Amino acid sequence: MRGTITETVTQVHHWNDTLFSIKTTRRPTFTFENGQFVMIGIEVDNKPLLRAYSIASANYEDELEFFSIKVPDGALTSRLQHIQVGQTLHISTRPTGTLVAGHLTPGENLYLLATGTGLAPFMSIIKDPTIYEQFSKVILVHGVRTVSELAYQDVICNELPNNEFFGDWVRDKLLYHPTVTREAYRHALHQQRITSLLESDIFTEHLGMPPLSPERDRFMLCGNQAMLDDTMAILNARGFSKANSRQRGDYVIEQAFLEK
Ligand SMILES: Cc1cc2nc3c(=O)[nH]c(=O)nc-3n(C[C@H](O)[C@H](O)[C@H](O)COP(=O)(O)OP(=O)(O)OC[C@H]3O[C@@H](n4cnc5c(N)ncnc54)[C@H](O)[C@@H]3O)c2cc1C
Repeated sequence: MRGTITETVTQVHHWNDTLFSIKTTRRPTFTFENGQFVMIGIEVDNKPLLRAYSIASANYEDELEFFSIKVPDGALTSRLQHIQVGQTLHISTRPTGTLVAGHLTPGENLYLLATGTGLAPFMSIIKDPTIYEQFSKVILVHGVRTVSELAYQDVICNELPNNEFFGDWVRDKLLYHPTVTREAYRHALHQQRITSLLESDIFTEHLGMPPLSPERDRFMLCGNQAMLDDTMAILNARGFSKANSRQRGDYVIEQAFLEK
């Protein structure tokens, strides 16, 4: 396929009936910025079938990782969910995307707000030591419907804090707040939509953070369109500016998927 390379699947992990992750080999010439996405896919009837995917691994890791939904009748994912170790994944060679730290104005705290597979780019970003150099606190909020969708908790809560190179920073700076909307989970602050959390100072107080302010806080958002629209409305009302192609801003957004 023109504009794509092939890599070999090295690991497939099924989180539940609706989510899975794939790891592949990575050639050293394939470079990207943490937070970017590429097109990935397979050949079907000798034709490429590619979809946009955030890269969930960090840009210094030996392998590439992707975190995927299983759409029951989805053209790609109804097939991709059956991919096996040793098979080939096609990957486009031009990573792109807005969820990169360089698009933000300098700030003190970085809030990463994700719903569902919108977690993927932030898995890359929370593995990036330069993020911890730039920000005093990095707050990862992952909103899902059911507890089984809280993927990567072991990486976030155990592996990264014990990383031999930057585990100290992770322990000191990374705050993780999972929230589940359709099942009971922990206590009330872990059972709300991200937008409800942002509207209340109780959330920031619970995190040990000051109330949100455009002087201090920066945001990256990745989720469904409704979450992006509602969160942007809250941030705009509080005086935060959105980055665009010409100018850095207090927040950046990316759709976790396109709604058809
Ligand atoms: C910039 C960008 C980055 C993306 N990154 C990822 C990623 O890291 N992981 C991932 O799984 N998907 C990601 N997607 C979505 C992905 O491109 C595909 O839509 C997804 O793989 C389903 O493909 P499909 O062909 O099976 O179904 P499609 O025909 O592409 O989708 C069918 C329907 O399924 C729903 N849907 C699609 N993707 C998702 C999703 N991720 N979560 C919830 N509902 C969904 C939508 O309603 C969509 O209309 C991204 C999309 C964009 C635009």
